[in-house]
Amino acid sequence: MTARIEPGQAIGVLGGGQLGAMFASAARRLGYRTVVWDPDPDAPALRQADLPVAAAFSDASAFERFSESIKAATYEWENVPFSVGVELEHRIPVRPAPGILRTLQNRIDQKRFLGERNIPVVPFHALHSPDELIIPDDIGYPALCKTATSGYDGKGQWRLNGPADAERLRDLFRHQDTQGRPRDGWVIERFLAFEKELSVLVVRGADGETRTYPVADNVHEGGILRISRVPAAIESRTAEQAQALARSVVETLNGVGVFCIEVFLMPDGRLFINEVAPRPHNSGHYTLDACTVSQFEQQVRALCGLPLGEVRLLSPAVMLNLLGDELTRVTAGEGLERLLGTPGTKLRIYGKTTIRPRRKMGHVTFLAEKTETAWEAALALRSFLANSRSGISRPRE
Ligand code: AMP
Repeated sequence: MTARIEPGQAIGVLGGGQLGAMFASAARRLGYRTVVWDPDPDAPALRQADLPVAAAFSDASAFERFSESIKAATYEWENVPFSVGVELEHRIPVRPAPGILRTLQNRIDQKRFLGERNIPVVPFHALHSPDELIIPDDIGYPALCKTATSGYDGKGQWRLNGPADAERLRDLFRHQDTQGRPRDGWVIERFLAFEKELSVLVVRGADGETRTYPVADNVHEGGILRISRVPAAIESRTAEQAQALARSVVETLNGVGVFCIEVFLMPDGRLFINEVAPRPHNSGHYTLDACTVSQFEQQVRALCGLPLGEVRLLSPAVMLNLLGDELTRVTAGEGLERLLGTPGTKLRIYGKTTIRPRRKMGHVTFLAEKTETAWEAALALRSFLANSRSGISRPRE
């Protein structure tokens, strides 16, 4: 049994995006002080922190400030340097453990780790140099090529519809190599005609106790999450299988903390793991408003050795991400009145100072007695956003 970190103590999070901000706010509610470390001085979570550390992760004095002031640390995205996690672990508990971070940071390692333990991952081939970029027969076209590290929200991903696309991508990678770009390899995956994308949040304590949230079904647009619906529109048997699969992933990793397991549901009912994140997830934001205990509070509880919270769904919920300038369009003029005037609507704005195309700026969660009602409300907002799009020319007829 690891020692409990009592409320009143300080805990730290590596990474200062919206997930870090929601962690800090959950921690504060439970009486903890928070220290947030992010290289970007504008990172939203820095404003939520009792002690913000705005410095590069390679900054030795920032490391001292961060590690000296906290009793335990976690992270809000998996691309924080593994070496910082390892250094921290010499001094304080880091959850999930940096060894897990290292396995999950690299798609090749992640898929190998799970595949070798008989957990079904999307069939793949690992590439280590552009010359190996050939689509094997057992993958076939269409295929997807993904960078092994640092890809997110559809970045570092290419769809290959035939040999000409593979040839072009080989040339691109060779050209990048001549410019000295560092490489961790790529994975080639079969492009799956899945029926649905699902995600499951699992929280696990240091004593091995595990809680599994209801399954969300997710709609992505251009590789970015757009809508999450809970309960998922799937059979209850499938939901139970997805939850069992997600639990087995976290148990196999021996993880402590919050994990999100993204799963593809095939038309024949098979489930394949797409990706595992060792942290709360965008598709779990519904837990903030629709569950007894949110994913962020669970992250705090697991980190501090507190009893895990209930994962009960209090209301059907559908979440819609606000990307790029959509936030401004939703909050301008009458739009805001209409949105906030709609019963069961919860708006969260992340407080990012710079708008970039497709950047996650906020989200709206619709709560309703029936999932369909919340779903319709989310679709209506999506249509409004599509119709009010500014600065984008319409295709010619
Ligand atoms: P990822 O960064 O791997 O989570 O991929 C982002 C999104 O791309 C996923 O949520 C899917 O919508 C899509 N995607 C990823 N891998 C595949 C695949 N093998 N087949 C079909 N779609 C995929």
